[in-house]
Amino acid sequence: MNKPLLTIAVPCCNEEEVLQETSNQLLRVLTSLIKDNLIQPDSKILFIDDGSRDHTWALIEALVKKSTYLTGLKLTRNFGHQNALLAGLQVAGKHSDCIITIDADLQDDIQVIRTFVERYQEGYDIVYGVRRSRQTDSFFKRNTAQGFYRFMTKLGIKMVYNHADFRLLSKKALKELSRYGEQNMFLRGIIPLLGLTSTEVQYDRKERMAGETKYPLKKMLSFAFNGITSFSIVPIRLIMTVGIMAFFLSSLFGVYALFAKFFGHTDSGWTSIMISLWFLGGLLLISVGLIGEYIGKIYEETKHRPRFSVENDLFSSAFKERKVPTPIVKKTRIR
Ligand code: UDP
Ligand code: MG
Repeated sequence: MNKPLLTIAVPCCNEEEVLQETSNQLLRVLTSLIKDNLIQPDSKILFIDDGSRDHTWALIEALVKKSTYLTGLKLTRNFGHQNALLAGLQVAGKHSDCIITIDADLQDDIQVIRTFVERYQEGYDIVYGVRRSRQTDSFFKRNTAQGFYRFMTKLGIKMVYNHADFRLLSKKALKELSRYGEQNMFLRGIIPLLGLTSTEVQYDRKERMAGETKYPLKKMLSFAFNGITSFSIVPIRLIMTVGIMAFFLSSLFGVYALFAKFFGHTDSGWTSIMISLWFLGGLLLISVGLIGEYIGKIYEETKHRPRFSVENDLFSSAFKERKVPTPIVKKTRIR
């Protein structure tokens, strides 16, 4: 049977309150999978410290010392959830057959990790963890999140409904993913685009174990906005449609205004002029702002900046230490 080397990648941003418990629970799952001969014994749990300001990294280092199954990756600063995930995928991808990504707060059910691995062995390249219901989310989060998914679908962006970043990716999927070089990496939108064989596994989402959400409203909005503008030019078209309609309406209004002038009702025009002035001014500002957003994206993409920087990579160094004898290859240079 296909026995993969699995890495469980966990992005952590100020997660000192949950980290110990998270590592205990994940470790239990990992070791039981190893014991049952489902995955390679050098499979690992990789904690990615996304520029935490608390003691997260110190805790990770302490954990790594205690267990060979645990390892860490420290980014130089906070690069955001998606880039932290990407860093984990890229660094661990070199040595793993498949990677499971999961949030540090263990809201996702770790018991289905086993099912993920089984699906992988059945030949699936992507396994999505899908929430059965959102009862544990706050009323606000539930409704905004579902509205977001609906809106994305309306815009023609293929997304797996109620799937966050709890998923398994095979080496093949990772390789394909690495060919997407965009700066604004919105993984949930990109992974379905890979077109590889995929399946869903349902689970119940729990409440955050401890600590508070690292996605306050501001981050949520910017996440949603980025998701939309990275994938769809529908908003630009929408603005154009509204612009054309507004132009049409105002020309009708212009005819009316001229008509009114010649028939002597001019003094009543002040209100309507003010209203249309503000309306059109607002519309123009929105349009310019939105177009500016896309131009900003183009600007960002053209810079080709790295999406993350690593400060300390315990994962790769652990693999280097094993000193796998490399076959001696005679170097011949073709000129
Ligand atoms: N996270 C991160 N960088 C950030 C924000 C969040 O690595 O800038 C991590 C965080 O530590 C957690 C995951 O992303 O493991 C999801 O965050 P959280 O659970 O706070 O989000 P929510 O479940 O409330 O949407
Ligand atoms: Mg969470």
